Order: sequence, then C-alpha cells, then structure tokens
Amino acid sequence: MLDLLIQNATLPDGRSSMSVAVQDGRIVEVAPGLQAPAHDTVDAEGQLLSPPFIDAHFHMDATLSYGLPRVNASGTLLEGIAVWGELKPHLTHEALVGRAMAYCDWAVGKGLLAIRTHVDVCDPRLLAVDALLEVKRRVAPYIDLQLVAFPQDGVLRGPLGADQHLQTLKRALDKGVDVVGGIPHFERTMADGALSVKLLCELAAERGLRVDMHCDESDDPHSRHIESLAYETQRLGLQGRVTGSHLTSMHSMDNYYVSKLIPLIAEAGLHVVANPLINITLQGRHDSYPKRRGMTRVPELLAGGVNVSFGQDCTMDPWYSLGSGDMLEVAHMGLHVGQMTSQAAMAQCFEAVTTHPAQALGLEGYGIAVGCHADMVLLQASDPAEAIRLRATRLRVYRRGKLLAQAPANTSTLHMQGRPASTAFRHESIPRF
Ligand SMILES: [Zn+2]
Repeated sequence: MLDLLIQNATLPDGRSSMSVAVQDGRIVEVAPGLQAPAHDTVDAEGQLLSPPFIDAHFHMDATLSYGLPRVNASGTLLEGIAVWGELKPHLTHEALVGRAMAYCDWAVGKGLLAIRTHVDVCDPRLLAVDALLEVKRRVAPYIDLQLVAFPQDGVLRGPLGADQHLQTLKRALDKGVDVVGGIPHFERTMADGALSVKLLCELAAERGLRVDMHCDESDDPHSRHIESLAYETQRLGLQGRVTGSHLTSMHSMDNYYVSKLIPLIAEAGLHVVANPLINITLQGRHDSYPKRRGMTRVPELLAGGVNVSFGQDCTMDPWYSLGSGDMLEVAHMGLHVGQMTSQAAMAQCFEAVTTHPAQALGLEGYGIAVGCHADMVLLQASDPAEAIRLRATRLRVYRRGKLLAQAPANTSTLHMQGRPASTAFRHESIPRF
C-alpha cells in the first residue's frame, strides 16, 4: 500500500490530471489518473502541485530583529549595516536561535523547504555560526539549511585585520559551515576586492566547497568583481559550484561591457541570484530622477544560458522591515522589476524560486519525478503564473511524504444581492466573450 497518493494535480510543466504516488518518502510514480490503495489519498482538484520553494539567498542571523536596538530610520543599506553593528554586541545564542526557529516556522507554512543563509563570521566568538548550526540541526527534518561563511565587514577590510578574519572564517568552515562567502565590493579598493575573490575561491577549491559571494551590490557601473569571480571559477575548475549574489552594478554597466561579461559568466558556469525585494528598495538611492531599479539583468542572463534564482535576502531585519518567507512574493517583485511579463518569462520567474535555486544549492532528489524526495507544495492556483499573481495559498506542504503544514483556501464570502456567494479571485470563474 502507498503512503500517499495525490490525484488530479496540475504540474508546473502544464501536465494536468496527474497522480503522484509516494512510498517511504520518495515519489514512486507520476502518471495520469493513477488508482492504487494508499494510507492517505488527496484530491488536488486540478490545483498546482509544485516541488517546494527554495530561497537561494537569506540572512537568518539577522531575521526578525527589526527594531533592535533601533529601527533603520532612512531605510538605506548603509544605515542597515550600522544598525546591525549596534545590535551585534547584544546578540545572544538563545535569541538568535529563537528568531531563526520562528522564521523557519513561517518558511514551512509558505512551502519554503530549502534555504541558503549567509551567516556573519566577523565576530571571533562565532556566536551566530554556533546558533545557526544548532538551527540547522533542529530544522533538518523539515528544512535543508545551507550556511555560507559571510565576512560582512570584508575579509580584508574588517576591523580585526585580514589574518584574524581569514582565520575566523576558516574556523567557521571547520565547525560545519557549508559554503565560502565574501563581499568584494565592500573591500577598500577594487584591487583588494579582486584579491578577496582570489583568496576565498582558492580556499573553497582547497576544501572542495561551494562559493557564494555578495558581488557588486552597488550602483557603481565600474564595479568588476563578478568578472574576477568568473575568472577565478574558471582558473580553479570550480564551474557549477560558484554563485554570484546581487550583481546590482550590472544594471548600471555599459551595454558593450555586459555583452562581454554575460558569456564569461556562462562559460564559468556561475549561478546568479538576484534579490528583487531588496534590490528595488536599496539600490538607486543616490539617484534623483530617473531612479535606477538596481536589479541585475535577469532576462539577459537567462537568455545567455545562466542559471538565475531570486532570493528573499531579508525579512524584518535592519535592512528590510517587510517580508514573510513567501517566495511567490519574491517572484512577483522579480517579474515586475525585470518586466518579465511574457508567458515564458513568467514561467521562468516561478523556476527562479524552485528549480533554479535547487541547482545553485546542489540539492539532490528535487522535483516532481520518480525517484525524487516526496517534497511538495499544493497551491491554490492553476498554473505558475496564477500562483505568482495570487501569491497563492499553500494548501498543503509535504516533506518526504509527510504533511508539514496546511492552510484553508483563500475565499471571500460575499453578501451582495445578485452576485455569487463567494470569490476565490480565480480567472476561470470570469465569463469569456
Ligand atoms: Zn545578502
């Protein structure tokens, strides 16, 4: 007998009336109209069944700390960094773990079951590292949490000096942090930025680890660290294991230079993560009008064969007072900022919070296919574009075939004479011609 059989589901690739059979935590069959005895049989009623959402870029050490020790009055990146600096001396293990665990509850409710989070490794006590390693262990049954050793103050520029910061970063990796991070545009000079990319990529190559760097998160059209990251990836044979996060400077770069750069990024097999909610609010702040959007060139990168994901980056922290772990909200903003309104581009926006980040994180067994983990989200939507439009309700969230979260369908009851008794904001209920 099957553990779980979901019937009459629509899959993100458009196949409808599909059944998904689950045994021992894995998907054992995907076929139309399957009938078989199961401990639990669910009628999806034609709704969209997706693999879970994935966030390729987050900061879990800062999440839900908004207002501590004070709010970011200007809402700028630099004041956010200053507020975070003021909060750091007051951080405790318990508070860090408590906030991160609360966020992970939100994530599960939103069908977000894999998160790559950067963790600040500039504090030699590694308080946040220990806290997030504990969180990683505790949420392992329901969330894949990947940690990135992130030297927020710059591995070369940080106040303790390059040697100390590099040693601290290595100790974080020794403790079990998965990925090597960096912030080359924050180093003192372009040359130091390039040197940090070289040192950190060499460290990752030495240890067989992945790399994910905050790269060119500025409006400076001359910021060139993504070029260094592509070069070092190529030189060290790290293709497919390196991610460039943000790349907002590419928004402002000269078109001719970008025509050289995107093929270099593709050649190096770099993954790219844009963070639309944060990029649209933090970039272009020195502009009067017109104001630049500041998100990297997502459609052009995709057309160039680069794997692009959208990340949440922040939720209620010193940099961003909003957010709820909803990757459909992230995709919704990415779609708008990138003007990705064609049918194909809307589908890509959904992929940017599902299959694309799965590749960037190197997740095994991800997808709605035979042999994959039975990790699935049933959405109150007919297709990926509608899921984005409605930031659709996560009706059911499964991990390894077990139900983790459930939500009632989003419906408004109407009290108007001559009109329907309710609406769920669905397109199919609207008369055509
Ligand atoms: Zn970030």
